[in-house]
Amino acid sequence: MYKRDMKSAQQLVLAGQRTESYHVAMLERPRATEQLAVDCRWLHRTLDSSVRDDPYRMICQHIVRDGSNCVGPFLENIETTCLLWEPNERLVTRRAQIERDRA
Ligand code: SF4
Repeated sequence: MYKRDMKSAQQLVLAGQRTESYHVAMLERPRATEQLAVDCRWLHRTLDSSVRDDPYRMICQHIVRDGSNCVGPFLENIETTCLLWEPNERLVTRRAQIERDRA
């Protein structure tokens, strides 16, 4: 279904009729295969209100790094080099859906 959706969406784009599903598919595609820090199961995102200029905290909950900052990076489509990275539940579900769609 994924490939079929992409193909039909691409045909609509070529015909000048862009669709939301095409853009969603394009955004989801790289993130399903890449190892992005934001998709790590050990990542805990929170806020630290004591730091006014940058309150966002990316905390690693892996037993090896427990409580320290995630090594990131948190830049679009740049994979982490962290060897402790594991896909979170959302990414596992997304990958399974893509595999089902390909079948
Ligand atoms: S430091 Fe590594 S294991 Fe920890 S949250 Fe970041 S990517 Fe995941």
